[in-house]
Formats: sequence, structure tokens, C-alpha cells
Amino acid sequence: MKKRKTIAVVVGTTDGFYRNRSLIGIIRQAKRLDYNIAVFSVFTLTGERTKHQIGEENIYSLLKTSEIAGVVFVDYTFWADEVRQKMLDMFRTMPDLKLVVLDNDGIENYEGILSNDRKGFAAVVDHLIEVHGFKKVYCLTGAEIYPVSHLRLNGYKDSMRAHGLDPKDEYVFFGDFWTMAATDMAEKIASGEIERPEAIACACDKAAVTLANELVERGIDVPGEIAVTGYDLSGEAITNDPSVTTCMRPDIFMGERCICELHRMITGETVEPEDPDEGFLVCGESCGCHRDVAFAHKYNETDRHEQESASNFRFCSMQESLMAQETFDQLITMIFSRVYLLRGVSAFALCLNKDWNLFREDDSEYIKEGYQDDMFEALFYKIDNGEKRNVPFKKSELFPQDMLLEDTPVTCYFNSVHFEDRCFGYQVIRFENDEFTTPEDIYHSWASAVSVSLEYMRVQERMKLMYNRAFANSIRDGMTGLYNRQGYELYSKQVFETAREKKQKLLVIVADLDDLKKINDTYGHGEGDTAINVCARALQTCCGNGEYCVRSGGDEFIIFGTYDYDNAIPIFYRSRIDGYLARYNASAEKPYHVGMSAGFFIDFTDNYENIDECLKLADERMYANKASRKKGRN
Ligand code: GH3
Ligand code: MG
Repeated sequence: MKKRKTIAVVVGTTDGFYRNRSLIGIIRQAKRLDYNIAVFSVFTLTGERTKHQIGEENIYSLLKTSEIAGVVFVDYTFWADEVRQKMLDMFRTMPDLKLVVLDNDGIENYEGILSNDRKGFAAVVDHLIEVHGFKKVYCLTGAEIYPVSHLRLNGYKDSMRAHGLDPKDEYVFFGDFWTMAATDMAEKIASGEIERPEAIACACDKAAVTLANELVERGIDVPGEIAVTGYDLSGEAITNDPSVTTCMRPDIFMGERCICELHRMITGETVEPEDPDEGFLVCGESCGCHRDVAFAHKYNETDRHEQESASNFRFCSMQESLMAQETFDQLITMIFSRVYLLRGVSAFALCLNKDWNLFREDDSEYIKEGYQDDMFEALFYKIDNGEKRNVPFKKSELFPQDMLLEDTPVTCYFNSVHFEDRCFGYQVIRFENDEFTTPEDIYHSWASAVSVSLEYMRVQERMKLMYNRAFANSIRDGMTGLYNRQGYELYSKQVFETAREKKQKLLVIVADLDDLKKINDTYGHGEGDTAINVCARALQTCCGNGEYCVRSGGDEFIIFGTYDYDNAIPIFYRSRIDGYLARYNASAEKPYHVGMSAGFFIDFTDNYENIDECLKLADERMYANKASRKKGRN
């Protein structure tokens, strides 16, 4: 396989109409220059440090591999400052990192790629003035701390001045690139606190859509009384009523520039982007124009496809069908059978830590940061010939087997597979068409179903293990390890039934240690315990045919089993017990002897109701044996 270099794109979330466009630029240019693209993103981004959020962000730890030749850091998608700082801290620990920052002047020593928003924003204001003849135009830009707020504001001022209009201070409003400032402005205009303009140019679509709707809500006609425009083209602007006039930024060009810049840093060679460095106006009704039907159509089509896959996803009740699987293997098969729900997928791999479900006594100990060096590919799906598999690979290789292609560079999306901050692994997806935007909302729900079902499987396995362990303990005697009375109750009836069904003899032995009280009283309880354990080992020499050995009380034992026994078995077993005890007594050199009395029952079961009848007979024989042994000793 040809070894290509890989460029990582580090984004917050990948959804959104315009974000996809910079990715398209990145992908196009990477293809031209023969780089693979690995996009690292989270499904959720919150300022709150929830365990879930931490689990999501773990995906970025994969960046620390020599497989990655350069990084595009898409700054504006990291709006949660803590996350952004964490990323920058990580980059600082990577001394040879080649990194460009998209949508920022640059951070620290890293090169920044900023779009020519000044020109683009001026074009929108030009439109308001030249086409619609407005003079009293306000500007609602973003927060004062962002350079891009000033860039767009300057574009507004350029346009006003170019048309001989004064961009007065009271025409300019700093906002938040979001909804709050727009709502506040609508309220103040409606109440008369802010004098009414003819038009308001907003620095982003979110604010423009909010402003238009909030004005309409307060009885002010848009565009009849006040025209409103946005910036940076969102689906919302196109579908809103009224549709909002906006501007498509040269996002593709910027994406291309990022790769050209990285290519220069990696190879020293200079190349230029191929797409135009200019945004273009997309007209809507909010300025007095008509809705851009072509754009609306394209957007609606994408939207329709997404709705379709969302509904397919809902109807297959993915979460339940995954959780209903009883084994890991069945779960993987079921996940495999659901990959088709991801529209446009051409390859998908689920990569798990080797010990993703390792049982640890302390369940609060698990992988939270990073991934294990040893991973395995639990499944690989390919549109024409997918397979479930169990292929080990090293985390440092980044791409699981078969994800890369021989003849062409690929674009793959990497996301965390986790439950809260418990890291299971990661998933990698590749689409049929590289420019097939980015993973849709459905991928988030799909991936979350996979993660939850892995956690469910893990917890189930853990519970089974703990139950088995607790159960095993409950039927065993702690001191000797033999079965206890409960164990006797559990298995004795089964053995009796088996003997009856197979028409085989049933063996029951009752045994009791001789003179334990004396040993206890003379040499202490510890010696008494030793003697009990010695008896347990002696009796186990009689369990070669699958017999059960039970400590039924203090120094009382039962052995039971069924087999095609020879009639000489009592003599044979008795001599084994005695042999063991004789060897022990000879070698242990204790001041006392360990001896046992035993009674044997061996017969077919026809004449007996249950095993307890047979036990009673063995017990009586044990007492007889004890009496005669005592007599012998005396
Ligand atoms: P015999 O020869 O007639 O069996 O007399 P014995 O002294 O062995 O007495 P018996 O079987 O009637 O009673 C068993 C004694 O063993 C009673 C109790 O004090 C003691 N014992 C019961 N459980 C334990 C134990 O776990 N450890 C020790 N050291 N002693 C025990
Ligand atoms: Mg005894």
C-alpha cells in the first residue's frame, strides 16, 4: 500500500451548512496534493465539564501520533473556551507540530487563515444601499472581543463611506453572534428606545434570523418597515419566513488555503488554491428581494434526505435491537447489520481498546484518557463486502485495516466510542463521496446507540460474573473449599434423579472426624481446623468419578455420586481415605492422629424415595463404624 501523509482536521462539531464548506475546500486541496484527511470531532460540545463531554473530547488524544503530518485547527468551532484551551495546551506539548488555525489571525506561533470578511460583508451592505436605496443602515456585529466582529464591522463602514454615508457610532451595535443581542435589539426598536433604521446588516445569520422574526413578532414588517440581512449562509436563513438575505463566505477557498499552507510547511513547496477568494450574495426576502430558489431547493433536498434517514433510523428501533443481544458477538453482528442506516457510508470501522470490558474489582478504575496502545477492529463494513472481524492493530497506526485506499487519498471521520468518561475506543467512517458534507445528526444518535449498548453489554457481563461468583461462594464452604449444606441440597436431588434415569448405582458416604473435641481442647482450635482440612483432602481422593464432596457440618462430611460402580467401591474408597491419612499422620509428626469414621451406602435407587433415605442409612453405618473404631482404640 502506498504510504500517504495524513492531515488532521480538528473541529468541534462538524454539523452546519457553512462549516461543511470549509471542509470541502480542505478535502479538495488535500486530494490534489495527495494527502489523506482525518477529521477529529465531537458530537457534543458544551462548556460544562460533564463526564460525557470529557469522553467525547478523548478523541483528540489520537492526534499524538507520528502518522499525522499536519493539523488544521478549526478555531471557530471551539466556542467552549475550556475545551479550546485544553486543545491549545495539548498542541504545546507537541513541539514539531505543523498547525494552521482556520478563522483566526493566528494563535501564539501558529499561522492563521482568516477569510476576507471585510470585503464580503461590504458586498451585503452595498446591496442594501445600491439595490434598495437604503441610507440609514445599522450594523449588528458580534462580540467586541472577536477580531471577526471588527472585520465585518469595517466592511460595513467601508461600504457606507464608499456611498457617501456616515457610519455613525449610534448605528453600530456589538452583539453576540447569537440570539440574545438580536432579541434585545428588536425589543428596543419596538419600544422606541432605539430609533428605527431602514435596514440592519447583521454579522451572522443566527442574529439576522432572530432579529427578523422578533421584529415581525412585535408587529414590525420585515422588509416593509425594516430590512434585515445576515452573513455566512445558514440553512435557517434560507428556509426562514421571510427568507434572510445573506452572503456565502469564500469558505472553500479558505479550506484550500489551509492545506496549501500546511503543504508549504511540510515540503517547502508553494501551491495556490484553485477556488475563488470571494464570497457571494444569496438573496432572500428580508431585504426586499426574492427567495433564492436554487439554494432553497438544494437545502431542502439535503434536509429531506436527512429526514428520510432519521425516520429509517427511528423505525428500526436500533437502541433496543442492540441492547437485546446477549453476547458481544451477537452485538457486533447487529451493529454491523445497522451500518446501512448511515447515508452515503462507504466504509465504517469500530475500533475498541483491547481491554474495553476488562473486569476490575474496583469499577471506578478504567480508561479515561487516551486509548490503549493495543486495540482491535471489532468490525469493518465496506459497502460491497463488509465483514465482522477481530483484527488487532496499534493505536499509533490510527487507521484500522482497509480504511485507506491504494489509488486515492481518503477522508475519514473519527469519533469517540465511550460511555460518560469510560473510553471504549473510536469509530472511523468514510463516505462514498468525499464531498458528501459531513456526518449528519443521525450519525450522532446511531453512534450513541452503539456506545450505550457496549456499556450495557459490559455491565451485563460484569453482573453475570459477579452473580456467578456470589453463587459459587454461596454453595461452598469457606474453610475447606468443599460444597456446603446448600451445595448438598442443590446437587443431591439431581444426582439421585440421574442414578434413577441411568439405572446406575448411587453412592453416599457419610464421614466424621474422630475425637475433634479432644484435638481442640488439647492443641487448640487451629489444630482442630487443620485436622478438618486434612479430612477434606482425604475425602477428595474418593471423587475420581465426578462425586460431590460436602462439608455438611463441623467435622461431618458427605460424598455422593452416581456411576457404574463396582461392589468393592466402599473397600476401595475406604483404603484411599486411610492411605491418605496414614501418609499425613506419618509426615506431619503431630502429637495426635487424624482419623475418620465412615459409613457407605451403595445401591440402585429403586427401593428408595429420595437421597435422604440413603443418607440416613450411610449415617447409621458411620455411627456403627465410629463405635467399633472407638472400641478398637480403647
Ligand atoms: P467423635 O469422635 O465422636 O466424632 O467426637 P468429636 O470429638 O469429633 O465430637 P463431635 O464429632 O460430636 O463434634 C465435633 C466437634 O467439633 C464439635 C465442635 O466443638 C467442633 N467443631 C465444629 N466445627 C469446628 C471447626 O470449624 N473447627 C474446629 N476446630 N472445631 C470445630
Ligand atoms: Mg467427630
